[in-house]
Amino acid sequence: MLANPEYQIAGSLITLKSIGEAFVKTAQATRADKGRRGHGIFATYQGGPGPDGGKECPCKPKGQTHRWPPHECEVLLYALLDKPFIRRRPHEGIIARCQRQVKDPKWLSLIKEIKGKDKP
Ligand SMILES: [Zn+2]
Repeated sequence: MLANPEYQIAGSLITLKSIGEAFVKTAQATRADKGRRGHGIFATYQGGPGPDGGKECPCKPKGQTHRWPPHECEVLLYALLDKPFIRRRPHEGIIARCQRQVKDPKWLSLIKEIKGKDKP
């Protein structure tokens, strides 16, 4: 390669061009991939059951948890008892998911507990 300057120039031009193109493509792909993967890690980490002491709740997607017990969950209390939200009202999609998932038989005793508690 060094023995042939012409070839080297041509080679460099081609290489620079392809490197440039490849770089742009890679940079874009990496950025998109990072964004996606970063979010995925975050979501999985946040929802990981167990080690952080998280509690499963019908308001969360399957396998995800939040730190407070479900009978203190405003979304669930709203879904079951129509209790108003003390803090900010969550997204309608979260409420809808909670209302849908709370019908799962696994929550039956929890629902009984919550509804029983609320009775005077
Ligand atoms: Zn919840």
